[in-house]
Amino acid sequence: MKEYVSHSNVHSHTTFSDGRDTAEEMVRAALALGFHTLGFSEHSPASYDDCGILRDREREYHAEVRRLKEKYAGQIDLLLGIEHDWFSPPSRPEYEYSIESVHYLKKPDGYISVDWTRPKLEAAIEAHYGGDPYALCRDYFRTVCESIEGTRSEIIGHIELVMKFNEARDLFDDSDPRYLGPALECAELAARSGRLVEINTGAIARGYRTAPYPGEAMLRRVRECGGRIILTSDCHNSDFLDCGFGEAAALARACGFRTAWEYRGNQPAEYQL
Ligand SMILES: [Zn+2]
Ligand SMILES: [Zn+2]
Repeated sequence: MKEYVSHSNVHSHTTFSDGRDTAEEMVRAALALGFHTLGFSEHSPASYDDCGILRDREREYHAEVRRLKEKYAGQIDLLLGIEHDWFSPPSRPEYEYSIESVHYLKKPDGYISVDWTRPKLEAAIEAHYGGDPYALCRDYFRTVCESIEGTRSEIIGHIELVMKFNEARDLFDDSDPRYLGPALECAELAARSGRLVEINTGAIARGYRTAPYPGEAMLRRVRECGGRIILTSDCHNSDFLDCGFGEAAALARACGFRTAWEYRGNQPAEYQL
């Protein structure tokens, strides 16, 4: 029997934030793939983040998703969601679900991005962590833990984002105890939170990585601690709506998962991997 690869993605960005395509173009791509569910999760508004949806466009975003829900009713379930950055103001109550993500670290003089560009990440390591990448990683995982403890979101976004520019392991070694200690603690907390832990393939479509994250070490710990996973493509371009789902499912199986979760309509449902 052919293995089921999820036909549902609830992590996607459109022209309302930093995506390439309109919401309706994403719906058409999802239909062409035979998806039953598509969730929109624009970046939350934040003063320090150019990717966030502008506060005064949020209502327009809501109205457009509602229009599409009606237009495509019976063909696909569409969800109004938000990817909430941990340091941005609390989200409006209209959202049907949310993803809690850490993209920034807070410093006395402002916020530093961990996923904007590699040169910016390297500059931040020099400027704020005395050139020690493990100190930045420790700060990152501490912040992710804080977000897991503080959030009400259903989904924990890309918990190993700090590996986005480090697939070649030339910035730091992810098997070093200075990295693994805080990373595994974070994986454990994410699993025990009961929230869905994302396996995110977004960096593959964008050419930064060839494998999804979190990687094996964190995922195995999530599994050992009874965590639940969801595959998402963090899609910024309708050509890549299910990008890497096969690899993500294979990675999950290799880490011992037998099931994963996906949204069917507005509820998460479990399926066999
Ligand atoms: Zn994100
Ligand atoms: Zn995203």
